[in-house]
Amino acid sequence: GMPAPVPQTVAPRRKTRKIKVGSTWVGGDAPISVQTMTTTKTADINSTLQQIAELTAAGCDIVRVACPTQDDADALPAIAAKSQIPVIADIHFQPKYVFAAIDAGCAAVRVNPGNIKKFDDKVGEIAKAAKDAGVSLRIGVNAGSLDPRLYEKYGKPTPEALVESAVWEASLFEEHDFHDFKISVKHNDPVVMIQAYEMLSERGDWPLHLGVTEAGPAFQGTIKSATAFGALLAKGIGDTIRVSLSAPPVEEVKVGTQILQSLNLRPRKLEIVSCPSCGRAQVDVYKLADEVTAGLEGMTVPLRVAVMGCVVNGPGEAREADLGVASGNGKGQIFVKGEVIKTVPESKIVETLIEEAMRIAEEMGEP
Ligand code: SF4
Repeated sequence: GMPAPVPQTVAPRRKTRKIKVGSTWVGGDAPISVQTMTTTKTADINSTLQQIAELTAAGCDIVRVACPTQDDADALPAIAAKSQIPVIADIHFQPKYVFAAIDAGCAAVRVNPGNIKKFDDKVGEIAKAAKDAGVSLRIGVNAGSLDPRLYEKYGKPTPEALVESAVWEASLFEEHDFHDFKISVKHNDPVVMIQAYEMLSERGDWPLHLGVTEAGPAFQGTIKSATAFGALLAKGIGDTIRVSLSAPPVEEVKVGTQILQSLNLRPRKLEIVSCPSCGRAQVDVYKLADEVTAGLEGMTVPLRVAVMGCVVNGPGEAREADLGVASGNGKGQIFVKGEVIKTVPESKIVETLIEEAMRIAEEMGEP
């Protein structure tokens, strides 16, 4: 068949340098990756690996694990060896765990210079160990743990303060001729966060890890992250993303994936084009859309399925999609590639759509 057209993105990707994170790449022309963080105790190797397997299945590209104690550090070699996706150790306070994580075979280490005392003294050693092991780093600046000196200077974590901190920490590594790092400047306020990343992207070609920190429970956090990431990604800023939700990490992966798909930064899979319903609807659109979504969950081909409540926009949207239904008078007109293939009673709409979707998906190469 015809090759699929290259999907349009809003803006060209900003040029950043490419760094290696284990078996994957971040920055440059590497696809924008989705990250999350495990919520298990890292020392509990089996539970952590089990969660990583679930995250991998959900489409997570890179996973980060916390390492607050020696027991957690001791678990890193087994986790790094058995994880299907690159593992990043997340280190605060204790530089000794940075070295432990590098020795453990982690793909990368996230360091937060803001809460490592006398960080400047440790940079040379960290840079050498990381370089020798082929491990990359993330300089993770966070509003909640801004370097006290900058807190004093700016009074609060302003975009300027976050960027100054990041650029200073980057320069320390660069002085040691170490360049394999990405940077994040997270804040819980999307406005501050957007300004910080925009500013930072003007200052260097570091790959950027986007995050709205402490974004909140699922609904609020999803909106905050989608808004902030959307604003930046639409300008070509951002090389890897982490959605932070007070919800299970698999939800973070789903949201992150959906954000990238919405901007054509990752191939779209199943897409339900359903109408919001209105006073004209002649069918329960919410129920229909939910049932079709549930019936087609996990589909890996880019199938657009339109679910429309009436005949106003119904046939038009249904025609644009691979498959669709426009409802009216207790019946559903089923469209495939613009053609009405049959009209079924309302009670048969869901099963007919699912049957047809499966058939088309098989033709498209769904395993
Ligand atoms: Fe309303 Fe029909 Fe549009 Fe749905 S398709 S929102 S029911 S006019």
